[in-house]
Amino acid sequence: MKHNLLDFDAAGLIAWFAGMGEKPFRAKQVLRWLHQFGEADFERMSDVARSLRAQLVELAEVRLPQVMRDATAADGTRKWLLDVGNGNAVECVFIPEENRGTLCISTQAGCALDCAFCSTGKQGFNRNLTTGEIIGQLWWAKKALGDFRVSGGPAGRRPAETDFCVERIISNVVLMGMGEPLANYENVVSALRLMLDDNAYGLSRRRVTVSTSGIVPAIDRLRDECPVALAVSLHAPNDTLRDRLVPINAKYPLAELMAACRRYLEKSPRDFITFEYVMLDGVNDSEEHARELIRLVREVPCKFNLIPFNPFPAAGFKRSPAQRVRRFAEILMQAHIVTTTRKTRGEDIDAACGQLAGQVRDRTRRGEKRTITIAEAAS
Ligand code: SAH
Ligand code: SF4
Repeated sequence: MKHNLLDFDAAGLIAWFAGMGEKPFRAKQVLRWLHQFGEADFERMSDVARSLRAQLVELAEVRLPQVMRDATAADGTRKWLLDVGNGNAVECVFIPEENRGTLCISTQAGCALDCAFCSTGKQGFNRNLTTGEIIGQLWWAKKALGDFRVSGGPAGRRPAETDFCVERIISNVVLMGMGEPLANYENVVSALRLMLDDNAYGLSRRRVTVSTSGIVPAIDRLRDECPVALAVSLHAPNDTLRDRLVPINAKYPLAELMAACRRYLEKSPRDFITFEYVMLDGVNDSEEHARELIRLVREVPCKFNLIPFNPFPAAGFKRSPAQRVRRFAEILMQAHIVTTTRKTRGEDIDAACGQLAGQVRDRTRRGEKRTITIAEAAS
């Protein structure tokens, strides 16, 4: 099978080119064509030597996930359903806001961690996405939005019509779609490197966020190898409740998770951790829970992002009433913790947090046997 060039980060492409006797600058040229101009046709990479182009045509390809559905919500949120083969599909969502455009991308087909309130988790797990499938979501979204540079035009320019059209520019990427990014560590880090690379997407580390349910050893690895902004899905202030809501907690309990967050901050591009906290009616949303949380995060510089629970069929939870979310936020803010409540976006196209379902052929046969494969997921 031909090599998918989207699977390579810069170091990988340079090494592959070296094997063909090509210099590193050739790899960088090709990277720019692929990721800055969105060019998938080798023949059109005009400054690449003709002989190299011919070799690429023979040995390589640019394999992108196929788009099965493209839906835009009333609030401008746009969701793509991407076919990743064998009956699996993943989703990716663009969220335009006044001063930024955020792309939320998926890292696995399904998720093995089975958090109690998550639609992706409920579907079971099929496989990790490749680097090409992860970066392919960003590639695809930029193409669809017209956010790639125009080849032939002055370097660095986008098409004129997007200049004043912030709702078509991807300024931030969050790994908060389907799957647990840190359970697919290698492929995710290669994709992150492309997002940060000046010859590729050139995003700042502060504008790329990994969201994790708390796989402690992988948090440490990310800190050392590719620190970006970190969001941790907390959802409970004590181990008893968190064990129930986020089963990976049994393996990496809160004390260890808080210690990992502190270590991460030593190298993080941001000086705080974002804690995500889904508000579940009558489960984790009382005033006492808020006070317990303040004690838990005492030594971790952090911000809180409260997420009103987004329902899906047979979820078994309800969204906390707005008044209770406000009170919860108030208590945290009185303790000087910056707290925001996430606006629900794209609900009419099922694009809100936790609603991404895609289509997953569950290989864990979760429907038949509800044992949790924590060891498997974290390995
Ligand atoms: N696996 C990673 C990233 C994907 S989930 C993680 O768990 O962090 C992204 C965020 O959506 C997480 O904070 C997750 O807890 C939250 N989420 C999951 N299901 C949700 C739901 N039904 N309503 C609101 N938020 C949800
Ligand atoms: Fe997986 Fe995150 Fe959903 Fe938990 S919340 S099941 S870790 S995608």
